[in-house]
Amino acid sequence: ETSISDVTRASNLIITLYDASDKKNLQPMHIVGGEGADYRVPIEEMLGENSFQQLHKFGGRDWWLVISPKGGTLGTAHPWFPWIFGVAVFTILFLIGFYIQTIVQRRVYAENLVIERTQSLKASESRVRAIVENIFDGIITINERGIIKSVNPAIKNIFGHTAEYLIGQNVKIITPEPHQSAHDAYLQNYITTGDAKIIGIGREVEGLHANGSTFPIELEVAELWLGDERLFLGVIRDITERKKADKAKSEFVSTVSHELRTPLTSIKGSLGLIRSGTTGELPEKMQSMLDIAYNNSDRLVTLINDILDIEKIEANKMDFHMSPTEVVSLVEEALEANKGYGDEHGVRFILSEGIEEALVEGDKDRLMQVLSNLMSNAAKFSPDGEQVELLVTRNDGNIRVSVKDKGPGITEEFRDVIFEKFTQSDSSDTRQEGGTGLGLSISKAIVDRHRGTLGFDTEADKGTTFYFDLPELSEESEVLPSGASGNGQCRILICEDEEDIATLLKMMLGNAGYQSSVARTAAQAKQLLEKEDFDAMTLDLALPDQDGLALLQELRQKPKTQDLPVIVVSVSAREGQQELNGDAFGVIDWIQKPIEESLLIDRLRLALRQVSGDRPRILHLEDDESVLQIVSSLIADTGDVVAAKTLEEAKNLLERETFDLVLLDLMLPDGDGGDLLPLLNNPGGLSTPVIIFSAKDVSLEMVEHVKAVLIKSQTSNEELLSVIRSAIETSREKKLNG
Ligand code: ADP
Repeated sequence: ETSISDVTRASNLIITLYDASDKKNLQPMHIVGGEGADYRVPIEEMLGENSFQQLHKFGGRDWWLVISPKGGTLGTAHPWFPWIFGVAVFTILFLIGFYIQTIVQRRVYAENLVIERTQSLKASESRVRAIVENIFDGIITINERGIIKSVNPAIKNIFGHTAEYLIGQNVKIITPEPHQSAHDAYLQNYITTGDAKIIGIGREVEGLHANGSTFPIELEVAELWLGDERLFLGVIRDITERKKADKAKSEFVSTVSHELRTPLTSIKGSLGLIRSGTTGELPEKMQSMLDIAYNNSDRLVTLINDILDIEKIEANKMDFHMSPTEVVSLVEEALEANKGYGDEHGVRFILSEGIEEALVEGDKDRLMQVLSNLMSNAAKFSPDGEQVELLVTRNDGNIRVSVKDKGPGITEEFRDVIFEKFTQSDSSDTRQEGGTGLGLSISKAIVDRHRGTLGFDTEADKGTTFYFDLPELSEESEVLPSGASGNGQCRILICEDEEDIATLLKMMLGNAGYQSSVARTAAQAKQLLEKEDFDAMTLDLALPDQDGLALLQELRQKPKTQDLPVIVVSVSAREGQQELNGDAFGVIDWIQKPIEESLLIDRLRLALRQVSGDRPRILHLEDDESVLQIVSSLIADTGDVVAAKTLEEAKNLLERETFDLVLLDLMLPDGDGGDLLPLLNNPGGLSTPVIIFSAKDVSLEMVEHVKAVLIKSQTSNEELLSVIRSAIETSREKKLNG
């Protein structure tokens, strides 16, 4: 180009190249020598007699090359000019030929490149299309108003609707209630506030099939802009099968765990009996071996119970029996219960700060479980000889319970995952401390269900403080006023923390001609019993400040109340729950809530006429020989045990003889022990009390007919014994008076 410019400058020529393929619109493509002026003139004007024109064909196109003098004429100043002109034209032609070729080659290259790129774009587009069309997951786009803009074929398999049907409809058509009604509001909320509940987060939701059924889906939503239009892209996966598999897995785990409980009960129970010296004096060496065996059976029980707890939490089946709970006495109880564990680790638990009257709404057993877990962790990680402090404080409308240790602290990277299942900072086989890594995740679930928070502060090498905050309950009314003064009437003390139930009981008793007073806590009951005279007492076992059974024991030790007839009125089955789970052991219902009036009055009459009887007879229905043996040696002092190993045997025995109590296993070789309940339950007269002692969880319906449900392996020997004793006591009273 430089050389062409030089020549043209020397010869005063303009060289123009036209792309002549489009004949109607000949525009100059390239101009050389026209500097400073507009020579982009149409070809007709250029083609004067003084110009040179030539048609070239290159790269499938026609090109006009026009060479013309500047100013329109060739000068004649020099005689040799025509020669010079000729040579110049020749040189220029040569150079231009070369030049055109270069331009054309460049253009062809560019065109090829475009074709190539278009082809590869097409290929990748069809690849994407193939993926979208064949992918197993459903892909759907909706606009801001929820209108479906596109779907892939998988959507038809998932929802049963065709693409033609769906496109243009509102996405509600595949969304079941209550999400259906909420969807518009949700979209609107997102668009105005940007507050995303689902965008960018995968979630399990429900889908609505064309046939009207709902099914679980996993949905991931992304937001995208196509030009000015905002779209939402949903990727949908049908997880029905996965859910089924999960359920099967959970059921398997829970069945196995339940099955493990029975033999474990025998092992732990026998070891407990031997260890306590019931079976005779033990050599010292044997004692220490037995301790090891006992502790390990205990660990196994803990593990199984933890696994079952996790299963329950995940299936949302964990029961909570909420009642006003006094936190400091709960912590004191936890101190007592975990003292042994502290001793083992050379650690002392102390209550370093407590506040009075800290009441929360809670499930006492579950909160104890949380406390025990935090305390055992603190003990495990504390240096020998250190103290672990427990504090109960008020914190912004909450009651805070803290467990403070001087251990190694929790490493930065472990902090985020500490509440996850099966996580331990040292998960090597050779780790120092035992445990399952489940404790904190169970504790967190429990605290969450109390509408509280579980958290921790930690500092490397200084220690860790785990705490939970629970909303504080405001102090409720004190002792209710007592009823109208009696004229020779019996006076009954109602010990009940729930106000509604206390009022109900008071009314029922009033109707039957009894006069009553109400105590809302164990402390109030003790105070009233000391000051005044009562003829009987109803007792709720779940009191805020003391366990009802412990109160009963305490009362029995005082001369004034040692013979006081007591009726236990307690919730056995947790209302609203489908299933009574294993943790309900130790619940004794002489009378079930809701309370049936006639029953209450009947029982009360019986209780008021106390009579002692003969040695009680107990029927124990159980197919496991070892459990039979353990139980019979346990209650040898209390009564006579008659064993039955099958349902048939038990039925025969019940026809011929009467028993004061039946101890029932539910899973028997020839049927379900529960089938016996109708035989024992005599609606007209007095029924034989039943205690279910089984590895199987018990249905709510069944619980209504029994005195107590004890789950094997969660029940200690002492508990079993005390439940049996109490049940016999009432049963004897009834029989002799009824
Ligand atoms: P585990 O049954 O193993 O104790 P947890 O869920 O209770 O299960 O605890 C999980 C892990 O958290 C422990 O193994 C330990 O690594 C860490 N951890 C818990 N409490 C403390 C603590 N007070 N100090 C240091 N580490 C702790």
